[in-house]
Amino acid sequence: MKIILLGPPGAGKGTQAQLLVEKFGIPQISTGDLLRKALGEGTELGLEAKKYMDSGRLVPDELIISLIKERITLPDCASGYILDGFPRTMEQARAMEATDNVDMVLNIVVDTEILMGRLMGRRTCRDCNAVYNITGKPSKVEGKCDICGGELFQRDDDTEATVTKRLDTYRTLTEPLIGFYEERGLLKNIPTGNSIEETFQNVLAAIE
Ligand code: AMP
Repeated sequence: MKIILLGPPGAGKGTQAQLLVEKFGIPQISTGDLLRKALGEGTELGLEAKKYMDSGRLVPDELIISLIKERITLPDCASGYILDGFPRTMEQARAMEATDNVDMVLNIVVDTEILMGRLMGRRTCRDCNAVYNITGKPSKVEGKCDICGGELFQRDDDTEATVTKRLDTYRTLTEPLIGFYEERGLLKNIPTGNSIEETFQNVLAAIE
């Protein structure tokens, strides 16, 4: 099962991807997580990516495309994967199409007005990348991950100015991919429910 998760920042792609991982046992590949990991390790890629990430811009296509091409050839991707946050530009979508055939593209449809609040309230685990929200989905103990006890932090790019820029970037560069995948008959729109679980039921209904 090879799935692309599409949707604006804050749509809940990461949360839904984690639920899919639990249910189907295929890996979540988040380009954002891969870049943050590279940055944490102080690699050349990480340092280069930081310049773009901190200002809400996209990292250049060639860097991201080679990162993904390498990642999907690892043995854990043999029975499928969930791409979370890739592709984000037409060039990335074309490169992906030339690399592998995905089975479906799930587009999480969400009211843009609620995205801002969600992104600003987001907290991420430093150790396992689990995602929480101070209003929608708080951790049981403030500042600590329910799963691994790791420290929760606010991403540098979840500040107001950067969030505004990221939403703009989404509209201009990523939204056109909806039409691209629609033309190929791969697109399934997923309405957001009133809860994470409800949205997940919509995801499962689209897969089956
Ligand atoms: P995310 O965690 O998916 O919100 O990604 C955080 C940041 O990483 C984005 O704002 C971009 O700067 C960068 N990034 C992640 N995925 C991509 C991608 N597919 N193409 C370009 N930049 C990306």
